Amino acid sequence: MALLEVKNLKVHFKIEEGWVKAVDGITFTIDLGETMGLVGESGCGKTTAAYAITQLLPPNGFIKGGHIFFKEPPRVADLRRKYDESFKSAPTARKKEIARVTSKLSPLRGELRKLQEELAKSPQQKGASGSTSSSPILEKRLVELTAEASELENRLSALTYSYDLLRISIRKDGSLDDYNEKIRKIRWTEISMIFQGAMNAFNPVFKVGDQIIEAITLHKDVSDDEARERARELFEFVGIGPDRIDNYPHEFSGGMKQRAMIALALALNPSFVIADEPTTALDVITQDRILAEIRRLQEQLNMAMMIITHDVSVVAEVSDKIGVMYAGLMMEIGRTTQVFKNTAHPYTAGLLGSFPSIKGKKKRLISIPGFPPDLVEPPSGCPFHPRCQHARKACQEGRPKGVEVEPGHISYCHYAKELWDELRRRE
Ligand code: SF4
Repeated sequence: MALLEVKNLKVHFKIEEGWVKAVDGITFTIDLGETMGLVGESGCGKTTAAYAITQLLPPNGFIKGGHIFFKEPPRVADLRRKYDESFKSAPTARKKEIARVTSKLSPLRGELRKLQEELAKSPQQKGASGSTSSSPILEKRLVELTAEASELENRLSALTYSYDLLRISIRKDGSLDDYNEKIRKIRWTEISMIFQGAMNAFNPVFKVGDQIIEAITLHKDVSDDEARERARELFEFVGIGPDRIDNYPHEFSGGMKQRAMIALALALNPSFVIADEPTTALDVITQDRILAEIRRLQEQLNMAMMIITHDVSVVAEVSDKIGVMYAGLMMEIGRTTQVFKNTAHPYTAGLLGSFPSIKGKKKRLISIPGFPPDLVEPPSGCPFHPRCQHARKACQEGRPKGVEVEPGHISYCHYAKELWDELRRRE
């Protein structure tokens, strides 16, 4: 079952000239442990799709339609399973239990707060009266209350988790459901991101390690020392000496910054990582090392990954499946070998034809004529028709539907089957 399911997602940006249809109806799934590469020219909507999933869109970006489902990762399922059995056929009982746990938890939280305040004051009280300190008693009570509250918090979280941990869809009035609130709970813990441009992604005035420690302590109830230890482990994991955690970003090379970004993304063991152009601006040797690193970590941790890049050689190396985007739409999607060997869309053929291969016969590189379209007023029908050498009249009229040319391999072209046969004949 898919961990992430995106259905007909539309994301538009409001600008003075109108609405930029950056993503205009894309559909794909990613399973746990699977890596999907999202490729296409700059501005085709790859990064926008990622920002919609993580809800990091800028203020003028709006999800205008579709659904995003982020399913329950297995470790969350383990936590929930024991509660599920007893409430499966009795939703009212579940509601009552949630109300009961909440009513116990609320006063407990209040008591905990008061106790913490008292404890903070207690050393001065002792000094002033000369009496025996009450701190050990308060501290003991604090430990008991914290354990009790934590048990109830876990119970509440297990009871209130829905099957789709995240579900985004558009209501009739155009507003979103409670995705925003839910994503805040799981951003970085379950879904994290390796941002584009590691060179500038870290704050230059803070030590790299401190920035990782902050991410850990913000999302997890751990002490600074525990978070520091985790940061050291992560550095070691991505191949940087743990003693470098007290360095500033400018003391790292490009490759080290990229590795540190990966460490930051992995800080809380997420189930799903989005890597946005993880190797851009790196030399080819460092690129190769980083890609090998990503592959190793992904396999070792069985994460799902989405790698966004305009470089098809990157996805060829690390992806199990590929989605090719153009003008905010998916053009072709399938297993990596299917898309590379049995290309079924003219745009993908053009994209692959413009990259040199060091294996096989030497071929003349062919670039795709023309320019990407204006997304405020995209071309009618298939947005690729002004640049497509196979375009016919029908291409200007209806938007192509997905055609499954072989199991799991879909081409969004009116003449997909025909072109697929023709491209096979040419080989
Ligand atoms: Fe080309 Fe038409 Fe297919 Fe679009 S639908 S890729 S224009 S042949």
